Amino acid sequence: MLLEAFDSNWIAPLGPDVDAFERELAERVGVGHAVALSSGTAALHLALLLAGVGAGDDVLVPSFTFVATASAVCYLGARPVLVDCSASNWNLDPALIATELKDRARRGTLPAAVVTVDLYGQAADYEPLVALCTDYEIPLIEDAAEALGASYKGRATGSFGLAGVFSFNGNKIITTSGGGMLVTESAEMAEGARHLATQARDPFPHYQHSALGFNYRLSNLLAALGRAQLHSLDDRVARRRQINGFYREALSGLPGVTFMPVASYGEPNHWLTCILIDPEAFGADREAIRLVLEAVDIESRPLWKPLHLQPLFADAPGLGGAVCAGIFERGLCLPSGSALSESDLARVAEAIHTCAR
Ligand SMILES: *Cc1c(COP(=O)(O)O)cnc(C)c1O
Repeated sequence: MLLEAFDSNWIAPLGPDVDAFERELAERVGVGHAVALSSGTAALHLALLLAGVGAGDDVLVPSFTFVATASAVCYLGARPVLVDCSASNWNLDPALIATELKDRARRGTLPAAVVTVDLYGQAADYEPLVALCTDYEIPLIEDAAEALGASYKGRATGSFGLAGVFSFNGNKIITTSGGGMLVTESAEMAEGARHLATQARDPFPHYQHSALGFNYRLSNLLAALGRAQLHSLDDRVARRRQINGFYREALSGLPGVTFMPVASYGEPNHWLTCILIDPEAFGADREAIRLVLEAVDIESRPLWKPLHLQPLFADAPGLGGAVCAGIFERGLCLPSGSALSESDLARVAEAIHTCAR
């Protein structure tokens, strides 16, 4: 497909593969429209902008996420309000959102949007979250950057908000080296995103601009890559699930090791396998394990450091934070790439066993 893209001379922004990639991804997610963009962050930026978020607004965002979720809020001059997660699924806690919205409604300070994240490829608990946003008439934006191929009660992640966002960055479940997608049921929103992503050029033969736009479109070449990757999405998810199963089995005898909980409401894509270490029971903490793995050339990583603990957001308001701080303290992401062999996985498990008491 990449060679076809070369042969067709569409080494330019936009072209037939962009259109096809959008169509195929929209179909896969079960939404009406998709807009291919240069990154997941760009998709979040446009989704929030088109949802009406502007300077001085507050936006509820999970504290437990990658920084880009909140950066996009800041690009608009709005303020992220960092909300803690549920221990049962590591995503936005609906009980905290309920309390906060009730309180803010009374004070007349409702947020301009709520952003949910489907962390490590597991959906947030959408039934209560969507109901709350509907009741208070607040747009919900779904950051599904890590969750392509996952589902919640049989419905694909990315489809729960006014807009959903995917990333095709190098480390995500499918990749175009860099890229993203905004998905939505709203034709108006999709059209708006396409317009803003192509420098907001008005339909005239000369270059005319009435709005401030961005250079956010995905190139045709990268869209061709994305199409090829999307074809193998099911295989990739199946492999990640196998890898998760392998680690569960291989580490099951170890005291003090637990896995990221899998909520019964959905099917995660198991983008990354994450474990929690109880240092007392295990005999070493997660940092000690990380260093032992690193010494034998195995890369593992701490979980996302919660945003309320980031210097960048030292002054941001928040709600709770102890739950995700505790998970961060004890958590480790294990090597989870689809290309890992059985012997690679066995080597990781063995190295972790050597750290245990
Ligand atoms: C990767 C990621 C993004 C950003 O995507 P890019 O394509 O790298 O800009 C946003 N949110 C989350 C939760 C992510 O994991």
